[in-house]
Amino acid sequence: MKFISTRGLALPCPLSDAIRQGLASDGGLFVPSQWPSPQYFSQILRDSKWKELSFSQFAGKVLATFFQEDPLAEHLEKICEKAFNFPLPCVRIDDRTQVLELFHGPTSAFKDFGARFLALCFNQLEPDPWKQNSKRQPMVLVATSGDTGGAVAAAFSEFTDIPVCILYPKGQVSQRQEQQLTCWGEQVRAFSVVGTFDDCQRLIKEAFLSTYFRDRYNLISANSINLARLLPQMAYFAYTSLKYTSLEPESLEPTSLKYESHSQASKGARFIIPSGNMGNAVAALWAQKLGFPIAKVIFAHNANSTIPDYFKTGQYQPRASISTLANAMDVGHPSNFERVLSLFPDREALSKISAAFSVTDSQIMETIRFGYSKGQIWCPHTATAAYVRYYLLHTGNLNIAEDEIIVATAHPAKFESIVEPLIPEKVKVPSTLQALLSKPSLKIEIDSNLETLAEKLKN
Ligand SMILES: *Cc1c(COP(=O)(O)O)cnc(C)c1O
Repeated sequence: MKFISTRGLALPCPLSDAIRQGLASDGGLFVPSQWPSPQYFSQILRDSKWKELSFSQFAGKVLATFFQEDPLAEHLEKICEKAFNFPLPCVRIDDRTQVLELFHGPTSAFKDFGARFLALCFNQLEPDPWKQNSKRQPMVLVATSGDTGGAVAAAFSEFTDIPVCILYPKGQVSQRQEQQLTCWGEQVRAFSVVGTFDDCQRLIKEAFLSTYFRDRYNLISANSINLARLLPQMAYFAYTSLKYTSLEPESLEPTSLKYESHSQASKGARFIIPSGNMGNAVAALWAQKLGFPIAKVIFAHNANSTIPDYFKTGQYQPRASISTLANAMDVGHPSNFERVLSLFPDREALSKISAAFSVTDSQIMETIRFGYSKGQIWCPHTATAAYVRYYLLHTGNLNIAEDEIIVATAHPAKFESIVEPLIPEKVKVPSTLQALLSKPSLKIEIDSNLETLAEKLKN
């Protein structure tokens, strides 16, 4: 399969190239050039007795079509097996609600799925173009407002020798998030930037454009625009939609037919997704586009309401980000929105399958308290989705017979300073996170300018 740019000006390219490039040459984002038919997946899943497949095996089957004719294809099964070596539970918490726990990876956030898959792809891709020009050292460069940096650092240091450089805004990540950025030894350098997340992103953009950096480094972007991060996320929505609804792959059907009648529209999983840069959002919409039984994809945003405002007004107005308790979602200009638009240029069509809501910090806190009374401890991000589930979705509309699936994006133990004051107990720390917390850490503070960064990287 070939991948094309949302802006239509770059040449179609195979998956490996799209993964290497991150961003297409015309500044757009890569999307599949065509969508395989739902019948295709029904067949594959039936033939492979999908109910007996683990998630990693399932992901290998579903993603194979995107890897066709690519040199990575022969490694796909192994990549999935190594990347997804942790559980993916969906837990029922009441008769109408399940929670899809995406946080059982090494850094306790869903970003582990994409980051591990990406690192393993680069592990295979590394030799050819880079070794030819050995003067330029490969380096992963990533800006993070919270969880991305930790997941990328963990994955690249587990699976590759490629050095990683992380920029994060000083004082705006939780202590445990910061520990996860700074505890990896020499391969990973974490810079605490005096400035905001937007400053970190600006620095990264400048570095990618600078001749100084381009002469010395072969820069790799690991932000959520990279296809290798989105594809595995699509796989867990596909898997969950089959596994946790009573539907069979036989009933996979083309999207265009799906919403003609209301009775059909209610078939399938209804995901509520804590959203920031909209990577997970796009992944779920793509899984739906492939014909997997997904009836609704609802976006829960924090006080950064660019997307909920778009649903209301039809105008997309990017703005500076505001910092909130759900820091990994502090995005005022979600880059993946361009992919949403390329799939649904028309807001009306998008509104049939999705909706978006904005949740304030005080509502997040209220929801964390409420969750405790239901035996749940939610991180501030997951709490936005839970708020939408319990407070917004059903006001004035009780005609809902289906399950709702709250997507839990991080473990609450990463945000203990927010969560613990709201509930009467300490949050238990998962053993993987505990292991990282006890490592020595090193952080380097820098001003938000490129010369300083270049200078520090030289040493
Ligand atoms: C990154 C992140 C999000 C936002 O995900 P997007 O795919 O960027 O919308 C939500 N919750 C947590 C915990 C995250 O780390």
